[in-house]
Amino acid sequence: MFDNLSRGLDKAWDMVRKDGKLTADNIKGPMREIRRALLEADVSLPLVRQFVKKVEESALGVKVVKGVRPDQQLVKVVNDELVSLMGGEKQDLNEPRLGPQVILLAGLQGVGKTTAAGKLALHLQKKMKKKVLMVATDVYRPAAIDQLVKLGSMIKVPVFEMGTDADPADIAAKGLEKAKKEKFDAVIVDTSGRLQIDSDMMTELQQVKEAVSPTDVLLAVDAMTGQEAAGVVKAFNDSAELTGAILTKMDGDSRGGAALSVKAISGKPIKFVGTGEKLEALEPFYPDRTASRILG
Ligand code: GDP
Repeated sequence: MFDNLSRGLDKAWDMVRKDGKLTADNIKGPMREIRRALLEADVSLPLVRQFVKKVEESALGVKVVKGVRPDQQLVKVVNDELVSLMGGEKQDLNEPRLGPQVILLAGLQGVGKTTAAGKLALHLQKKMKKKVLMVATDVYRPAAIDQLVKLGSMIKVPVFEMGTDADPADIAAKGLEKAKKEKFDAVIVDTSGRLQIDSDMMTELQQVKEAVSPTDVLLAVDAMTGQEAAGVVKAFNDSAELTGAILTKMDGDSRGGAALSVKAISGKPIKFVGTGEKLEALEPFYPDRTASRILG
């Protein structure tokens, strides 16, 4: 992603280098390249404007340091602003004060939510050495329950389900009860997804959330959907107060806009990225590493 930014900037640096310092005039070229690259990456126009303005302000406020070339200074400014746009530090999952860690997973259909549930379960089990239970609350699609059960059996994580006739909030509450009784450390609740945001889905999500008081409410977001993803994050965050997002399908031909937009639009960090179909393909999201990759 963002191949064009580093290539475009290479051209624009020449003028900055010649002048010896950053000026309102010579940063115009690089700013134009940054703006173009961000729009191509499918970041929304208001966000692009805001970002470019911030970089401009910081660039012109940079003190001249002997021995550091102005183009290098500008790269550092852009890098720092990218890191800050994506939330600064890596954000871990929240730990419970008492009882099991409960992660509620939400998302539109097809984004990779159920896969993300399996990936998170494996992560908590393998890396964090936790005893994990998954709970299937998608009562509209028997296939979704079967899929979770199948994923669970692949990694030896039990799945609590009550078929398709029960109420999602009730299933979630009973799942949590079981987890407490049987001393599970973590519970992952997979919720139902729809093709589009609708008020029934949001109401149901709120009810499930109320039933289990989760430590994290994570939204699975398809990285391929660019700035549209940012809108989805905003809608879910407004209804269900997310604690973060999992950006899925980052291995695909994503233009990168979603990675840059989620935090700025919702105020909530990306906590993990999915990088493949396999259950091992989950990584924590590092804003600094992502910024370096963007700048090439
Ligand atoms: P859900 O409807 O949101 O639960 O979506 P699924 O978990 O069923 O995933 C939908 C499709 O996306 C499946 O074919 C998954 O294998 C695929 N998928 C999920 N996560 C990733 C990912 O990180 N990378 C790739 N390439 N494919 C993924």
